[in-house]
Amino acid sequence: MAVTPSSTRTALIAGNWKMNLDHLQSIAFVQKLAWSLKDARHDFAGVEVAIFPPFTDLRSVQTLIKADDLPLAFGGQDLSQHDSGAYTGEISGAFLAALDAKYVIIGHSERRQYHGESDELIAGKVAAAHRHGLVPIVCVGETAEDLEQHGPSAVPVAQLRVALEGAVKGKEVVVAYEPVWAIGSGQAATSEQAQQVCAALRGVITEALGADAGHATRILYGGSVKASNIAGFMRETDIDGALVGGASLQLEEFASIAQYRKHVGT
Ligand code: PEP
Repeated sequence: MAVTPSSTRTALIAGNWKMNLDHLQSIAFVQKLAWSLKDARHDFAGVEVAIFPPFTDLRSVQTLIKADDLPLAFGGQDLSQHDSGAYTGEISGAFLAALDAKYVIIGHSERRQYHGESDELIAGKVAAAHRHGLVPIVCVGETAEDLEQHGPSAVPVAQLRVALEGAVKGKEVVVAYEPVWAIGSGQAATSEQAQQVCAALRGVITEALGADAGHATRILYGGSVKASNIAGFMRETDIDGALVGGASLQLEEFASIAQYRKHVGT
């Protein structure tokens, strides 16, 4: 991984569609998003835009992006820690890679909460992503209870330490700090709170993967990001982008989040 000073890390705005939009709806959305960003002369090299549709949409999205040469990245919302075999309902990293997916979200709080995903399982999924040439977006974050009992950094730091045990040194990782209490609540963290935790997470990356990775790794904030608050997060030293849930399903709002440089002064 190249050594990159913090100021030159490419920003990443990622839209997690969760269980929304079927493949036909996804195609229409992707087309309109690409037109809207191109119309706005979006700097795709400076601010990467990635979408995470449901698995059943991925082939259609891949075909469209390839056929129309759209400057959008995409990935899966999860993957199996196994490569193949008797794991009904699971999706192999090999299959995502075969669809040209660049990224895969791992350890989203909804997977941790509704599917009982442990930190160790998440480390196994990070290893699987790297085996298949995918960039894992590793999600960590504290619940409201954790926040009260342990403060803001302790739980995400502990989660990331274990998750990175699965990472291969020299391969890219993206980290998403997503306080669980901020997801879907309309109550985002303040940019100062988020910066404090993201700085601690950068320390964990440096410890686990070395100084080059500490500099180069992109850390996203996620949790009720909107067009009206993205600029504040992006001004922080250790925040390099956003993982966006609800607002990524609203075309104009998501395009405006990606265009945050136009409202950095706001
Ligand atoms: C998420 O689900 O990762 C998320 C950040 O959701 P929202 O933006 O809706 O809070």
